Amino acid sequence: MAKHDHRRVIAIDGPAAAGKTTVAKELADSLGILLFDTGSLYRSVTLRSLRKGADLNDEQAIAKQAKKAKIKLKAPSIEDGRSADVMLDGEDVTWAIRQPDVDANVSKVAAYPTVREALLEVQRENADGSAVVMVGRDIGTVVTPDAGTKIYLDATVEERARRRYQDMRRQGEDMDYISVLEELRERDFKDSTRATAPLRVADDAIHIKTDGLDVEDIVGQIEKIVREQWASIA
Ligand code: C5P
Repeated sequence: MAKHDHRRVIAIDGPAAAGKTTVAKELADSLGILLFDTGSLYRSVTLRSLRKGADLNDEQAIAKQAKKAKIKLKAPSIEDGRSADVMLDGEDVTWAIRQPDVDANVSKVAAYPTVREALLEVQRENADGSAVVMVGRDIGTVVTPDAGTKIYLDATVEERARRRYQDMRRQGEDMDYISVLEELRERDFKDSTRATAPLRVADDAIHIKTDGLDVEDIVGQIEKIVREQWASIA
């Protein structure tokens, strides 16, 4: 057998606010398998760096934070819309990593090759031999290019901004639509133009454009693909 077995890995990549986490959570629940949202890792390193006052322009300083950070994703202990408990150095940071200061800086942190390298092995370990939904930007291209199922979820930037804006309003964040749109555009640009593991559609990924589709339809579509794929595994 190959060193890594990723046949039951469902890789879901795509730009920010494309609905990846919502879809992945429903899919994981429906299949009765785990969800691993890799954005939480980059967000946790960003939060740690901000809290420690590390210089975000200094790759070595941020890589040090990535190596020191003890990040664990656990099954959700509270029903407040979270898909997992994100633990950073023993503290529950599930919501702290979703705040605007982390949003604004995470793409910079995630562009550093040494940070990505530090987080790669933990992602592969979680994927190995497991039935798991892995969510991110480079799962199908870099983390597990041999994933059994690869999905690329997409939507127009206006639609994504609208969804993100509504989410933020619900959480009581005071941000206007235009700022949300600008922030997403900037993050898309940084994520897709960086030198290491840029956001792109894997050649063999199924590309789903989610404008006008509801979550149930998307989940149903992916679940059908996964079940067919799994039926062919001996
Ligand atoms: O998916 P989420 O919005 O939580 O991701 C936050 C950021 O983390 C992304 O904008 C991207 O810069 C980075 N990321 C990444 N590779 C992944 C997951 C997230 O570069 N696999």
